[in-house]
Amino acid sequence: PSNLFTDSAAQLGSLIEVLLLSFALTERISNEKALRFAAQQEALHIQQQANEELEQRVAARTLELEEANKQLQTLSDTDQLTNLKNRRYLNQYVEEELTRGARYNHYVALLLIDIDHFKKVNDTHGHLVGDECLKEVAKRISEQVRWLTDLVARYGGEEFCMVLPETNLEGAITVAERVCKKVNAKPVSTPDVELEISVSVGVFSDIPTSPTQSVAFLTHADEALYSAKHNGRNRVEAKEVN
Ligand code: GH3
Ligand code: MG
Ligand code: MG
Repeated sequence: PSNLFTDSAAQLGSLIEVLLLSFALTERISNEKALRFAAQQEALHIQQQANEELEQRVAARTLELEEANKQLQTLSDTDQLTNLKNRRYLNQYVEEELTRGARYNHYVALLLIDIDHFKKVNDTHGHLVGDECLKEVAKRISEQVRWLTDLVARYGGEEFCMVLPETNLEGAITVAERVCKKVNAKPVSTPDVELEISVSVGVFSDIPTSPTQSVAFLTHADEALYSAKHNGRNRVEAKEVN
C-alpha cells in the first residue's frame, strides 16, 4: 500500500542510517579523545616521575660533592702527622682573630711552643720515635684547649702555636704554664722507649690595631720563646707590650 510512511521509507531509512552513523562517529571520536587524554596523562606522569628522579639524583650528588669538598678542605687544613690544624690554617685564623680583636678592642694572645732538645730525640732514637713523640706532645697540648675559639696548630717541625682570642697576657701565661706542666707531667711512651719531654713556651698578647699584624704578633711570641730557651727551657716567658 502506498501511504506517507511507505513512500518515504527509503528517505526514512537513510535518515536513520545517517543518525546511527553519526552516533557511532561521535562515540568513536569521544573514545579517541579519551584515549588521547589518557595517553597524555600517562606521558605527563612519566615525565614528572623522571623529573623527580632527576631532582633526587642531583640533590644526592650535590650532597656527595659538598661532603667531598668538606673533606678536601679539612685535609688541606690539617697536619697529617699530628692531626692538628696546619700552618696555612693558622695564618688564616690569626688574621681573622686580629681583625675581630681590632674591631672589638679585644686582646689576642699567641703561644709559641717548641719541644726542647728534640733533635737529640731523633738522633738518639730515630725519626719514627721522634714522630710518635710529636703526636703525643700534640695531643697533650690539645687537651689544654678549653674554649671553642682557642686553636692549636702545628707551626712547623717540632713547634706548635696556640691562638687565644680575647685573652690578656695574664690569662695566656696561665694557659702556657698549664701546657708546659702537662707536657712534662709524665714520660712519653713509645713502643721502644720512654722519653722525658719538655717544651718551652713564648707568650705574647695585645689588643691589635690592624689585621696585618700577624708577623708582629708571631715575632713577639718568638722573642719570648727565645728567652724561654735562653733561660733554661721547660719554662714560660712572656713578651711585654712595648
Ligand atoms: P731546642 O731545645 O733549642 O728547641 O733544641 P731542638 O733540638 O729542639 O731544636 P732544633 O731546631 O735544633 O731541632 C729541631 C729538630 O726537630 C730537628 C728535627 O730533627 C726535628 N723535627 C722537626 N720536624 C720533625 C718531624 O716532623 N718529625 C721528626 N721526627 N722530627 C722532626
Ligand atoms: Mg724549633
Ligand atoms: Mg726545639
